[in-house]
Amino acid sequence: MTIEQQNEKSSPSKIYTANAYTKPVEFGGLTIGGPDFAVIAGPCSIESLEQFTETAQFVADNGAVMLRGGMFKLRTNPSSFQGMGRDAFDIVREVKARTGLPFVSEVTDPRQINDFASLVDVFQVGSRNMHNYALLKELGSVDKPVLLKRGFSGMISEWLYSAEYVVKHGNPRVILCERGIRTFETATRNTFDLNAVAFVKRHSHFPVLADPSHATGATDLVIPMALASAAAGADGIIVEVHPRPSEALSDGFQALTLPMFKDLMARLEKILNALDKKMLKTCSPAKTLDL
Ligand code: PEP
Ligand code: MN
Repeated sequence: MTIEQQNEKSSPSKIYTANAYTKPVEFGGLTIGGPDFAVIAGPCSIESLEQFTETAQFVADNGAVMLRGGMFKLRTNPSSFQGMGRDAFDIVREVKARTGLPFVSEVTDPRQINDFASLVDVFQVGSRNMHNYALLKELGSVDKPVLLKRGFSGMISEWLYSAEYVVKHGNPRVILCERGIRTFETATRNTFDLNAVAFVKRHSHFPVLADPSHATGATDLVIPMALASAAAGADGIIVEVHPRPSEALSDGFQALTLPMFKDLMARLEKILNALDKKMLKTCSPAKTLDL
């Protein structure tokens, strides 16, 4: 076989479709990748019942359709806060019951999958695990969607192949998430590759979210880049919110405060109007907390 033939055989372009229609992913009464724009919000890490409750209730009351919150954190520095781990499980149960919203959290090890199955509505694969094929294969057998973040050094083709791992192993419900890549630029935490959002919308069937929190790493850049994500055609965003960012145990420098989240939602409505799109709404109205 010639090198050209070999290249042709393994060419990543094989996984790109010329002009794809997004196949929506449905779960818990929500449709991601349909006509409406989804906002997923919550803290980087769950830190306490009070912190998660306060954040969750606020974002629920202001239009978020799903909660996020890290329990097992993959930190670059092993001395950084590693997440509450299993101690967060009861907190999650309580906050989910109170808000009525679905929940996404990062699974960092295939051994967590069973425990996660009763807690999360969507399994998140983080940037550092986009190439963890053992984890991706295991997630092929779960009966819940997988939110697959792009590796910070992952090419679009590699990202789509990672999605294919999950699909090939039995789970077609993959949602992609662009969260910024590592480039020569150091002024921001990552370089937000909005090209990738537009590209995978056009050339793959997967819904795509954008994460302007990790993509910028700076609170004051999150709102403008969230708006840009909507304009670029993302199916939604996932953003980090903390009631007191200066006290956050992880990623406080990129967290929106509660009033900032409210402002973001008001500004997003205007962009969505201009795009002839609507904000995705929950079918069950958020319950009010009585703390
Ligand atoms: C996260 O969403 O909590 C996270 C760690 O993001 P990423 O994997 O994109 O770094
Ligand atoms: Mn974070």
